[in-house]
Amino acid sequence: MSRVVVVGSFNVDHVWSVAALPRPGETLAGQYHTGPGGKGFNQATAAARAGASTGFICALGEDAGGQLARALATADGIELHELRSDAPTGTAGIYVDRDGRNSIVIGPGANAELSVSYVDLQREAIGQARVVLGQLESPPASVAAAFAHARGAGALTLLNPAPADAVATPELWAAADAITPNETEFCAQLKRHTGAVIDPDKLAALADDELHADCRRLLPHGSVVVTLGAAGCFISHADGQWRGDERGYYRVAASAVRAVDTTGAGDAFNGALAASLAREPAQAFAAHVAYASRYAGLSTERAGAASSMPRDSEVRARFG
Ligand code: ATP
Repeated sequence: MSRVVVVGSFNVDHVWSVAALPRPGETLAGQYHTGPGGKGFNQATAAARAGASTGFICALGEDAGGQLARALATADGIELHELRSDAPTGTAGIYVDRDGRNSIVIGPGANAELSVSYVDLQREAIGQARVVLGQLESPPASVAAAFAHARGAGALTLLNPAPADAVATPELWAAADAITPNETEFCAQLKRHTGAVIDPDKLAALADDELHADCRRLLPHGSVVVTLGAAGCFISHADGQWRGDERGYYRVAASAVRAVDTTGAGDAFNGALAASLAREPAQAFAAHVAYASRYAGLSTERAGAASSMPRDSEVRARFG
């Protein structure tokens, strides 16, 4: 039963590489490419390639984007639980400048149609999972419904609270056993939940006991994994819920890699963490985070998001 179920978004990404981001009224030429995206789909791809049997609950349109999702899921052995929507498949328009800065517009389309009633119909599939993973690109009530079914069946619930400006409902927050924000998402959620203001650029430099205290305020009942890019990540557990670890809080270093494109590193990390937790539940949490770090590190050595997710065999060949 090493199964992961991801509840989340699929987008068709339309990406323009431009010298500088367009200003109001400006028309620019740029190099264009398109491909699959959406945090849910990226994370499901990572979980599958990291070796977990993977299901993906999503909403797709009756269009070319929906067909792309179906073909890619089949290629990676991902079992789709797909609400077919009249709305178009989700899209993202992305401009990337020569310094790697981006501007993004998301058209949620079908993703916004993923309903609680459809998720309820997938109760049996969710009940077969050891880990259920969600993000905030889908309606929070639907992710919360999946988490409620997961918990009812004894599965672990992981919430990647991304993107940073999306709001999680109190029900969803309460139903998460663990959350995995990056620096920006951590600071945004901390402000939203507690009013405390921390500069994301200064987060990694905080003393461990201070960061642990902030994590406890943010998710008093569960584990917090703050991903810090090349600085690795910080883990903080609730009292008495150390999940096999030797300490209540600690850091895990990033792997030594030659990063060429960190797009999707967070998605790689989340999918691999879920897969590792599902495959070897008896291991300490620290070992799962270490695997996710190696997996995400390797993903940064290749360009792309879903397409750059490595296979478990590649991670083991590289890091042992
Ligand atoms: P993105 O939004 O680009 O997908 P993110 O901001 O959500 O990523 P990060 O914190 O940047 O996520 O990265 C997630 C994990 O990936 C890190 O905790 C680390 O393990 C790994 N990682 C990211 N960047 C690097 C890097 N330059 N070198 C090594 N590991 C990295």
